[in-house]
Amino acid sequence: MIILKIGGSILTNKDSTESEVDYASLKRIASEIKDALDESDKELIIVHGAGSFGHPPAKKYKIGEVFAEEEFPQKRIGFCEVQNAVKKLNMLICESFIDEGLPVIAIPASSFMTATNKRITEGNLDYFKKYLNKGFIPVVYGDVVLDTQLEICVISGDQIIQYLAVNLNADKVILGTDVDGVYNKNPKTHDDAIFFDRFSSLKDLDTLEGTTNVDVTGGMVGKIKELLYLADLGIESKIINAEIENNIFKALNDEEVKGTVISRGN
Ligand code: ADP
Repeated sequence: MIILKIGGSILTNKDSTESEVDYASLKRIASEIKDALDESDKELIIVHGAGSFGHPPAKKYKIGEVFAEEEFPQKRIGFCEVQNAVKKLNMLICESFIDEGLPVIAIPASSFMTATNKRITEGNLDYFKKYLNKGFIPVVYGDVVLDTQLEICVISGDQIIQYLAVNLNADKVILGTDVDGVYNKNPKTHDDAIFFDRFSSLKDLDTLEGTTNVDVTGGMVGKIKELLYLADLGIESKIINAEIENNIFKALNDEEVKGTVISRGN
């Protein structure tokens, strides 16, 4: 079973406060996935980020921060705003995928997962198994969830990947983003950034600064932390550039693609 993440950075314009979908990327990625699945009948779960849809309302309402009891009504409506915003993005993504002939079924985290201090602690995956058994492609995404400590919080698509990979014993975890993989510093702001084929420790980063600033869920560093946790459990993952044509197709088909493998081994 493969878990494929499609970063919010490729599907939306994350720096924008507007909710814009990059339909050209979406259509291309959908057809790459379709072509790859036509060549083999692998089980697939798709996870996508919230991009410019989820981050602005999550930031506006400071979802995930401790608040006073009397603020709850306002936080609650903020929770609903975020849930609805990411659902809209998910609907547009699923629409494109279905148009391409991919049997996707959305399973929003807010409807079955619970967190404790921003970490997923509960989420029954029986439905994932049932849909996978029938040949569907479950789609899950960065979302708001109830939190036993903080009442409500945001969980990233990257954290969801980690939870799914561990609990469903994924064979392969692929993350498509808008850079080739992990560098010692942000390659978008540093021309001299050095690329890693393999990455095994946060110590290899020169700086933790510079993840996408509108991202309340952690950006590249947050991503790496989730993947290192997976690596500790023996599950390797690979970050690739999904903006480059055919990279997703190749990665799904076990062909060689430039990217960073996150693993604890050498
Ligand atoms: P996505 O939305 O695709 O999941 P993010 O926007 O959260 O991805 O993270 C990818 C971004 O992280 C890249 O666009 C890059 O600018 C930034 N980034 C920051 N530090 C690094 C680094 N050390 N290596 C690679 N990318 C980095």
